[in-house]
Amino acid sequence: MTVVEASHGVPGPAKINKAVLRYAVLALLGWSVLLSASLAWNLDRQREVTLELVRNTAYAHFNKDVAYRMWASNHGGVYVPPTEKTPPSPWLSHIPDRDIVTASGRKLTLMNPAYMLREMMQDYGELYGIKGRIVGIVYLNPNNKADPWEEEAIRQFAAGTLSEKQEISEIDGTPHLRLFRPFLMEESCQKCHGHLGFKNGDVRGGIGVSVSLAPYLESERRVISTITSTHAVLWLLGVIAIVLAARRSQGRLLDAHRMTMSLQEKNKALESSNAELEAFAYVSSHDLREPLRNITSFSTLLTRRLDQRLDGDEREMLAIVSDAAQRMDELVRDLLELSRVGRDGEPFSPVDLGKAMAMAQKSLRVQIESSSAVITPPDAWPTVLENLGELSRVFMNLIANAIKYRGKETPEIRIACKQAPDGNWRLEFHDNGIGIEPGLGYEERIFGLFQRLHKRNEFGGGTGIGLTISRKIIERHGGSIWAESAGQDKGTVFFVTLPKGNFDAGAKTASK
Ligand code: ADP
Repeated sequence: MTVVEASHGVPGPAKINKAVLRYAVLALLGWSVLLSASLAWNLDRQREVTLELVRNTAYAHFNKDVAYRMWASNHGGVYVPPTEKTPPSPWLSHIPDRDIVTASGRKLTLMNPAYMLREMMQDYGELYGIKGRIVGIVYLNPNNKADPWEEEAIRQFAAGTLSEKQEISEIDGTPHLRLFRPFLMEESCQKCHGHLGFKNGDVRGGIGVSVSLAPYLESERRVISTITSTHAVLWLLGVIAIVLAARRSQGRLLDAHRMTMSLQEKNKALESSNAELEAFAYVSSHDLREPLRNITSFSTLLTRRLDQRLDGDEREMLAIVSDAAQRMDELVRDLLELSRVGRDGEPFSPVDLGKAMAMAQKSLRVQIESSSAVITPPDAWPTVLENLGELSRVFMNLIANAIKYRGKETPEIRIACKQAPDGNWRLEFHDNGIGIEPGLGYEERIFGLFQRLHKRNEFGGGTGIGLTISRKIIERHGGSIWAESAGQDKGTVFFVTLPKGNFDAGAKTASK
């Protein structure tokens, strides 16, 4: 593929491809970061959910153990037939009624709450894998001795610095959640443990459960794998969407580039054909004047030489030839002037508009004096970036027209100068002349080449080029010109806008 680089500020295909690639990579990065963050958040959340589940299970078992123990202690323990597994407890030998014989001769032995709970916990642990413990620092049965972790917790319970202890630790090679809470000395405990020196309300020891995390971790693994694969699919879909969007934008941008390039080429061709046309108009108008001058002077000479020999018709015919040649000369002169706009090579420079107006008035001195026209300038003239000669030509056209197309009254021309909110200047030329009939589009038509609203012999004649030249000049200065009229005999206002330019020094007092 041929790489066409940027032309007239339009980025070329290489630049477009690079920019699209950059945006696509950025979008891919953003999408990846977003999905990674979502995945991390979801996994973290899942870990919390797992722990919450394990914790709730531990609490449920713990509460069950506490209720069981409470039931037993409220009944002061229970009597069971002694067996090999549950012989009379040697740690309760200090209780007088530890062993009793019923009236029917059955032997029974006392099973206190701790004894019962330990038995039940052991059975429960073997059946369901949830291990429970009831332990103390001071104990009757050495099997109830707290391990170092539990002992530390019991001390903290007693000191009032801890109300519950939790930890995840390995038991038999499997992670377990250990939950441990204090149990307090109560009146119902005094029967068996009173001799150990605890008062009611003292921290007697702790009850704990440990729940294996294994089944929960297994289901967590399944959820994590679902979450991860969902994210992977989502990420892939996003990547496909980004790649497709990038390709489509690339196609559109390249199309737009091709269109811009072809427009630029057409513009260039148009510019050069315009330039050729202007050059042709300039040369031909210049060259046409020579034969026209000959026609005028020879027809005048002929009229003078043949003076007595010419009859009335012949004299009139020669006058028409001379008139036509003169009018054509006027037309060619104005055309030449139109084609000269912008050809003087003068660069724009900051000029006081008052100076341009002074030049125009100087050239129109005869018309102004003979018509007694009154021209009222604005309070201040701005300075704009301009071609002094050309702008003074515009002012001359407008003032000359205001005098030429005057009504019955003495011509009065009031010029106003305002600055628009965007900083551009707006000049207004108000006259009290014949005005323009509204609603027929004449206000715009008069700016067209050779467009006149009156007959050739009315209002001192004219070629209909003055306003065309004025518009060409103003637009070359980056401004605009238009006319408005309230109606026939109600005067006309010509508006001229000129860009402020960054050199602008503001308005100066009108030159008198
Ligand atoms: P010209 O004055 O040579 O005819 P212009 O291009 O200057 O050519 O003006 C075009 C036409 O616009 C004029 O023929 C006239 O009909 C109309 N016109 C211009 N200025 C005024 C004005 N101030 N009031 C009324 N009509 C105007």
